[in-house]
Amino acid sequence: MSIEVRRPLMAANWKMHLSIAEGVSFIAKLHELVGTPRDREVLIAPPYTHLWPLREPMAAAGFSLAAQNCHWEAQGAYTGEVSLAMLAETGCRYVIVGHSERRHIFGESDAWIGRKTAAALSRGVVPIVCIGEKIEEREAGLTEQVLRRQLTAGLEGISLDTPEPLVIAYEPVWAIGTGRTATPNQAQEAHAFVREWLADRFDKAVAKGIRILYGGSVKPDNVDDLMAQPDIDGALVGGASLEAASFARIVQYQRSGKSP
Ligand code: PEP
Repeated sequence: MSIEVRRPLMAANWKMHLSIAEGVSFIAKLHELVGTPRDREVLIAPPYTHLWPLREPMAAAGFSLAAQNCHWEAQGAYTGEVSLAMLAETGCRYVIVGHSERRHIFGESDAWIGRKTAAALSRGVVPIVCIGEKIEEREAGLTEQVLRRQLTAGLEGISLDTPEPLVIAYEPVWAIGTGRTATPNQAQEAHAFVREWLADRFDKAVAKGIRILYGGSVKPDNVDDLMAQPDIDGALVGGASLEAASFARIVQYQRSGKSP
């Protein structure tokens, strides 16, 4: 797959927000506003309890369903956890892995994230592997070192013949939910580093086709500039994805020089 065919992925992470009824209305409203775009993919990651009731409205709208987390084991005595097979059964095509809130609030380690990524790939669910540095790491000049460490552990032992089964999300921790966004140049620099790392780790053509999303206070008024960067292939959106009109504008980012 070549760079020209990376289909932008505009992803909503609802975290622990919205009721099922609000989710159903959101999907109807979003579909009314954006239709089913052919040149970009629309994804929503609602809470676990919403996956089954939302699968039909999501499928009818042509949107992709994602889970926000998973466990790597197929089954077992893991109270409170949900397996990849269970997620696949609810219609999930994607799963977010290693979100910074999982890493920093719930103590998930790089090694756990690697297991989740491998398990998702083996179950045919596309992992969206989140990586990103904290502010003190950026200020100490450690951004690339942190990204390298997270990528190495998060993708340990996996092989890929094609790019489609994997998505990476670069989300600087200091930009998540803070209203502080990486500048388009800062984001592009990190994305270019990630793509180079992927090209060393996998086949070059595969690396060129892997979608790398940016996340961290993406809003209707900054999405166009971010999406104009050559290595930014989509957005993972928290706060601004909770209101259909706001997320619709993000989905409908203006291409300003870059063809999706
Ligand atoms: C996120 O949750 O992945 C995120 C980027 O949140 P926000 O858009 O609110 O910064």
